[in-house]
Amino acid sequence: MTGYLRRVTPPVNREPASAESLTVTDLRHRNRAAALQFLIRQREGTRADIARHGGLSTAAAGNIVAELLAAGLVEERGSRASRGGRPIAIIGPRLEGAYAIGADVGERGVAVELFDLGLNRVDREFRGGAHQETPPDIHRDLREALAALRERNEERWERVLGIGLGLPGVVETAPDGTQTLYAQSLGWEPHPIPTDLSGDLPVFAENGAKTQARAELWFGAAKGTQHALVALLGRGVGLGVISDGELAHGAFSSATEWGHTKIRFDGAPCRCGDRGCVEAYVGADAILESWRAVGGRFDGSGWTALGSLLDAADAGDAAAVQVVADAIDALGAALGSMVNLLNPQRIVVGGWVGLRLTESRADEVLAATRARSLERFAGQFELLPATFGGDTVALGSALLPIEQLIAQGRGTELVAAPR
Ligand SMILES: [Zn+2]
Repeated sequence: MTGYLRRVTPPVNREPASAESLTVTDLRHRNRAAALQFLIRQREGTRADIARHGGLSTAAAGNIVAELLAAGLVEERGSRASRGGRPIAIIGPRLEGAYAIGADVGERGVAVELFDLGLNRVDREFRGGAHQETPPDIHRDLREALAALRERNEERWERVLGIGLGLPGVVETAPDGTQTLYAQSLGWEPHPIPTDLSGDLPVFAENGAKTQARAELWFGAAKGTQHALVALLGRGVGLGVISDGELAHGAFSSATEWGHTKIRFDGAPCRCGDRGCVEAYVGADAILESWRAVGGRFDGSGWTALGSLLDAADAGDAAAVQVVADAIDALGAALGSMVNLLNPQRIVVGGWVGLRLTESRADEVLAATRARSLERFAGQFELLPATFGGDTVALGSALLPIEQLIAQGRGTELVAAPR
């Protein structure tokens, strides 16, 4: 196993250098990073768009594009006519210029996905099943899934930037870059993030709710916002907070464990060992258990079971109506507290429980959240379902190595690929 400190520099807690300390080279890197990020997030743009976005001269934007073209990271995708009749080139990320892997690591298996530089999914491998897994099971699943992907994508592999893991727990990043998973709710001991998943490919880990928020910020329902809450509701409950256009991380990258904030003092027991947590009221198990307790019957996956509950409520089953109303009220209280703390302009509700709830009851979730927010704030945000479904965490995790590529601003050395 290679060194733990190796190239693993997670793309979090990056302090922008102050204007005084920036050298010309730094500036060049920063402008190039901004241009590459702009093109990946917007999917495509012109040199003039890049100049406008980065506050650059047209000549400077042209130089940056030339460098990115030479590095094989962007390409010209045809052109459109300008008012003067001269064609204007459309530039976008060169899809096969680099690849990134994102893994959604759950309690019951891992979904490992390979994305191109445009963040299109090119391949996918799942390992796991119905039973609860332990960290050694997950480690083995990840290695096997990556080996299978590598075998099918041998010609792409040398341009794979790294592996992003979206994990079900707190992922703490020490100042030296080492990362540790703390999944207290799952009863796991603190676990160092393994760096030996596939050869020497760098590994970047983050809490799954944060990777979801990143995906929604780049490409989904939170795009273009400066202040948003992105809730992940599944068996576990998590939150990503976007503040001033950036994902909030906290001192050790572990901020926003919303699922374990309290909505009822000494209330229902939670998987974390405490009582009254958000997760103990709006997590999938909590909702389905309350239904079972009043005679609800269901089988199949959680998705199917939750669908049965909502159908029963729609059909007028009084017990089901009450269970759904209670869950939505609890969710409103939990989100309303976050509204009062953070004054968001948008709330995005995702995760499979969140998608199920908002598919038919987004208005009720919004009303419950407004009812539990301070009056002045209640009219200042909108609430939207997440754009991405089940594979959001994998997509968001793949953005971790992409962000690293962008931050390094050294595309030429990293992925100079044959054209
Ligand atoms: Zn808890």
